[in-house]
Amino acid sequence: MNPMTPARPAAQFKAPDFTALLSDRARRMNASAIREILKITQQPDIISFAGGLPAPELFPLEEVRQATNAALDRYGPAALQYSTTEGHPPLREWIGNRAGIPAANVQIVTGSQQGLDLLGKILISEGDTVLVEAPTYLGALQSFQPYGPSYVQMPTDDGGIDLDALEAILRTTPAKLLYAVPNFQNPTGRTLSAERRRRLVELTGQYGVLVIEDDPYGQLRFTGEAAPSLYELGLEYAGDVNANHVIYCSSFSKTLVPGLRDAWVQAAAPIISKLIQAKQGADLHTPTLNQMIVTELLDEVLPRQIERVRKAYGERAALMLGHIEEEFPGGVDFTRPEGGMFLWITLPGQIDSTKMLVRALTRNVAYVPGNPFFALGGGENTLRLSYSNATPEQIERGIKALGETIREALD
Ligand code: PMP
Repeated sequence: MNPMTPARPAAQFKAPDFTALLSDRARRMNASAIREILKITQQPDIISFAGGLPAPELFPLEEVRQATNAALDRYGPAALQYSTTEGHPPLREWIGNRAGIPAANVQIVTGSQQGLDLLGKILISEGDTVLVEAPTYLGALQSFQPYGPSYVQMPTDDGGIDLDALEAILRTTPAKLLYAVPNFQNPTGRTLSAERRRRLVELTGQYGVLVIEDDPYGQLRFTGEAAPSLYELGLEYAGDVNANHVIYCSSFSKTLVPGLRDAWVQAAAPIISKLIQAKQGADLHTPTLNQMIVTELLDEVLPRQIERVRKAYGERAALMLGHIEEEFPGGVDFTRPEGGMFLWITLPGQIDSTKMLVRALTRNVAYVPGNPFFALGGGENTLRLSYSNATPEQIERGIKALGETIREALD
């Protein structure tokens, strides 16, 4: 017998039924609607407001090159070695100082997306009630979904979460976790007012609900006054960093660059110690060199970069809003973001934005339909537009084409 011949006769071999072998967890995952849409919209002649990517022409390319050299010079081979799961100490130190908390309460993660996944892993048991905004960040739903949450949607209005509605939910529904994006939310661009933040922190505190505050955009405010984070308010409410029921996630993806995948979680010690264990199983640690590069950029480049990005996105948002006012027919509602990368369109009720996308694509313009951002469905007449990665000319032509598409859908 040829030693390469498998012991089992070929005729008896059947490919495994991979689908049947998947775990319950894997079965709960589904393809990201956005990813599928992005595939279509990547054709070169399409003006895409779908993607939600930071503007690459603003990336500090030269500064990252210099920071890479500086990190390699400073740390030598240690820059390329395995490192601690908690994260690069000077980076944790800087984040802790900025938040006024010990570095021990800061966990570096590989993108805040990993933070969401690990938090889902350590906090959500099958059937646990998780409160989410309607609509909410699709990536959070993707992270939480495998762990089998039972979602309850919190109604929202132009000021974000409706707190009366939340109180009514909390009175009748024992919930474990509340997930929210209070600043320039993805997908709506809405911001929760300071007053609502206080009430949210008090209510969740009283009802024993943990809060995950996801804040990748907070630094990118181009107009209006910043409100305190839920995390800061939670700290005030609890009076102790290790009793704070708010867990905070943020990231360098939108302020510096997304490709280094550097982000962090601030939380009470018992959450951090579980996160460390979960992260060890996931990837041991966030890439050492990437954390060192970001650390080199913190003092000078980061503040400059934030100013640059804020200014550019503020101009793009104003331009898009101006064209929307001119080009969209009456009866179309839209948000006016004070920062971030997105705005949200509500079409007259009879228009289905998923169906309308086909017509928009024939006019070479793309967006993301709103429905996938609702954990339990809804929002068929809504859509998300991103202005962060579009030129003035694309904004003008794309919004005009979208206006024509909406008028056609109304006929
Ligand atoms: N949260 C929100 C609300 C986001 O919009 C994003 C990026 N699209 C993330 C988390 C993930 O960001 P990152 O993993 O790059 O830090």
